[in-house]
Amino acid sequence: MMSRFVPLSIPNFEGNEKKYVNDAVEQGWVSTGGAYIKKMEASLAEFLHTDNVAACQSGTAALHLSMVEAGVRPGDVVLVPPLTFIAAVNPVKYQFATPVFIDCDDSFCMDPVKLRDFCANECSFANNQLKYQGNPVKAVVVVHVFGNMADMAAIMEIARDYNIKVIEDATEALGTRYIDGVYAGKYAGTIGDFGCYSFNGNKIITTGGGGAVTANDSKVVDHLRYLSTQAKNDVHYYIHNEIGYNYRMTNLQAALGVAQMEELPEFIRRKQANYNLYGQLFDGFELGHMIGFREDTYSNMWFYSLEINRDKVKASMREIITALEEKGVQTRAIWGLINEQIPYQHEKTYQLEKAPYYAERILNIPSSTQITKEDIEYVVEQVKAVLEAFAHE
Ligand SMILES: *Cc1c(COP(=O)(O)O)cnc(C)c1O
Repeated sequence: MMSRFVPLSIPNFEGNEKKYVNDAVEQGWVSTGGAYIKKMEASLAEFLHTDNVAACQSGTAALHLSMVEAGVRPGDVVLVPPLTFIAAVNPVKYQFATPVFIDCDDSFCMDPVKLRDFCANECSFANNQLKYQGNPVKAVVVVHVFGNMADMAAIMEIARDYNIKVIEDATEALGTRYIDGVYAGKYAGTIGDFGCYSFNGNKIITTGGGGAVTANDSKVVDHLRYLSTQAKNDVHYYIHNEIGYNYRMTNLQAALGVAQMEELPEFIRRKQANYNLYGQLFDGFELGHMIGFREDTYSNMWFYSLEINRDKVKASMREIITALEEKGVQTRAIWGLINEQIPYQHEKTYQLEKAPYYAERILNIPSSTQITKEDIEYVVEQVKAVLEAFAHE
């Protein structure tokens, strides 16, 4: 008998992917020129209700370009989250700037109360310039974790009060939007100064590897695109007025992306339906519960989080994950804290309480768009059995 295996999160190519990729190959347009790149950008801009989007090589490239454009320079300070994927923070170091880690709230996104407290109590503010230990605080990186949305109303107010740029890392939240409040109708990534998206293999849509960046000013997006193409001034002559990067998306990636964009609304509906099913099946289970998404948003519900009841289950994440792996259920722990990784161990942290709390409690469970109802029932059954076995140890 074939044993069952339920992967954590795999790509879904049920649409026009092969057709468009073949087309790009047949036309010979595989690199950083070609019609699919423009189509991908237009499709993203239309979906996000924004004027201009630049497609690039990765979410990390999008974040780095935003950091450059925000004017982050060596010695500057950038406020960042501790509990997320490290790619959100590494671009700070690419610019030889200094990260300061601010705690998250119960949405796993940056806590606006602590952000404001840090600016008010740990920094000086004069001549419209916020400074921490004498160094300019230039930007804050706000990550919309797992498809949730940070409290953007509060964060934008703080950014305005202290004149800092907001870089939204919406790599996990493509399609999440506010349905209530001052930003009703606004999509994750279109509220701050910059918005970054990723189309890596496990994201809600994929181009293999890829990303995109938008900004609240269309001319700024044009400049980001310019920087992403080696800051090349025109097609025929090698004139470069700035230091550029090789960060442009390729036509092959974009061909995949255009097909994926056609399916995005359906992918989101499936993520939501599957999340709701998990919610029902875990309802009343005392050793773990599903973490919700903000009520004032329509969330893409990209990744599902089960909070483990640590009063009852003492086993390590590694033990839990290994036990589930043996049952054919692929899970993973939420990230290790970035401020505990070797390159970041000496950086300033500010009132970290929730981030370490969730770091040892959150288990991510399978969330592929093509997961079946039977798979979900199997996952829940196995997770319950494993947690119950550990609780009785
Ligand atoms: C995936 C991800 C990134 C990086 O995107 P890549 O396309 O892999 O470079 C950045 N930040 C977060 C929060 C992510 O999940």
